[in-house]
Amino acid sequence: MPITHLCRVQGASLSEHVEPLRLLLLAEDPSWEALVRKCLLPMGGSVILLCAPSWESVSYLFENDRNALLLTTPTLQPAPGRCRLPTVLLLDAEPETSPQDVSDWLVRSSLTTDVLRRCLRHVRERGILEYTLQRLAEEDPLTGIANRQGFQTLLAVRLAENDGRGMALGHLDLDNFRHANDALGHQAGDRLILQVVARLKSRLEAGDQLARLGSDEFALLIDTRRAPERAEWMAERIIEVLSEPYWIDGESLLLGCSLGIAHARVNAGADPLMWHAHIAMQQAKSTQGCTYHVFDERINRNARSLADLESELRRALRRDELELHYQPRLDLVTGTIVGLEALVRWRHGERGLLAPNEFVPLAEQSGLIVPLGYWVISRALRDMQALRERGLAPLHMAVNLSFRQFQDSQLLSTLSRLITERGVEANWLEFELTETAVMRRSDLVKQTMDALGRLGVRFSLDDFGTGFSSFVHLNSLPIALLKIDKSFVGGMENREENRKLVLAMINLAHNLELEVVAEGVETPEQLSLLRDFGCDQVQGYFISKPLPLAELVEFLTLGAAQ
Ligand code: C2E
Ligand code: MG
Ligand code: MG
Repeated sequence: MPITHLCRVQGASLSEHVEPLRLLLLAEDPSWEALVRKCLLPMGGSVILLCAPSWESVSYLFENDRNALLLTTPTLQPAPGRCRLPTVLLLDAEPETSPQDVSDWLVRSSLTTDVLRRCLRHVRERGILEYTLQRLAEEDPLTGIANRQGFQTLLAVRLAENDGRGMALGHLDLDNFRHANDALGHQAGDRLILQVVARLKSRLEAGDQLARLGSDEFALLIDTRRAPERAEWMAERIIEVLSEPYWIDGESLLLGCSLGIAHARVNAGADPLMWHAHIAMQQAKSTQGCTYHVFDERINRNARSLADLESELRRALRRDELELHYQPRLDLVTGTIVGLEALVRWRHGERGLLAPNEFVPLAEQSGLIVPLGYWVISRALRDMQALRERGLAPLHMAVNLSFRQFQDSQLLSTLSRLITERGVEANWLEFELTETAVMRRSDLVKQTMDALGRLGVRFSLDDFGTGFSSFVHLNSLPIALLKIDKSFVGGMENREENRKLVLAMINLAHNLELEVVAEGVETPEQLSLLRDFGCDQVQGYFISKPLPLAELVEFLTLGAAQ
């Protein structure tokens, strides 16, 4: 609890107000507290004094509080817009000019019970008046909750208080309210809205706020400071409660609703947040009944510019904006580097170096993965030759192949041509396939793999454990290596379960007479466990990150010299 103490001052009452006034004091110098407490003493139970180290530490206690005042020294005064309480500044000396952004100020030397009483009454009455005016302008007369204008004020305050941290915005639209309103009459329509609001309120908890943006549109501020998942929980609870039938004039009716949720981003402001919640609401609208949708920046960026990105990627291929980085693979028995994995990157003019997960899925969807895949193989073969020309020992070169590449009827002939043109021995080339890729259209995949195998190419099964493999099927494919996915390797030191799984995978691979590579090895502890388990090879940041060719040459030359 950040509040240093909370006490009710005993004695006579301050004024005609029944509810005690909550007075928050922010002052580093403890003499202020002593002075204020002394002045308050004769006012008694009508004032509750709270002392806190900062506004942020207690702001949650004053949400919607209309009966509170802030007393603060200039050093602790909340930044403009952060605090809605009427504020009285505590000054050590008479100011030369009137302080800004405060309701009043008090000077230490002239502070007495009487001065304080008058100041509090004045500020409080002014506050009540302002509040009444504001309420009339910002409240929905039917439901008593904030209207659109009120919502904008609420949102601005909430965003200013936490820079947008720990908050989500819900935008709710009732699907067929207008229809019901026309059919039942406006009075019944009003009663329906009151029921909707009562149901929504029944799901709100401290820190959440509700507003009516239009006749059948609502906004919800969801407090996610305790748990970011709260936004989704709330969405589910709201959908559940609104799906129940409504009873109007003895008749039951169902309303569909669409709820869009957007998580606020730090310092991003109100406009993008409202826009994102709105987009998510429209996405929810494409589904019948009561549904919610959470705004996903990634998907949305992709959705908006899928076509743009595709043509950019096409151009990138032509302009040679792709790069390969190579990650070395270490043999645990000999302690030497025995292979490399080629991993593609896109050096995008504006967005910097893009990782494969940002464009490979798009390339797969659009079919661009076929030309991209050829570019990767061709570049990997060229670099294999470059390494040989530098006198380095031959290494296995692993290239990732996606399922779509098998659908290309030219795969076999193009690969044979590329291998011959580059003059590399095919048995140093290895293709990595995922479980999902080999399981789809397995007859076609098997034929192509067999034919490539006859050229001397090896295959490995990538990301093992994350897909679904039938072992009978695996056995019938020409696979030489199994790569254990990094998600199993991570956490091996701490989780018994991971260790058991990895050991079981290694044993399984050895029983199938496959070599095993563990991916994503990041610590010496993982490496030594894998060695104890009999793993053949490892790959991961602990050995090296994926490196551009020039850095790889340096890495390999240094390693060879040691
Ligand atoms: P992958 O084949 O499983 O590649 C391993 C990924 O793990 C790489 O990510 C690598 O940088 C990362 N990694 C390696 N060691 C560590 C480690 O110690 N810790 C952690 N946390 N990560 C590590 P990257 O380069 O982002 O590639 C992601 C995926 O994109 C690859 O997964 C592969 O499936 C795909 N990909 C990459 N290049 C190509 C390509 O040329 N063609 C196709 N079809 N897919 C590609
Ligand atoms: Mg791979
Ligand atoms: Mg992998």
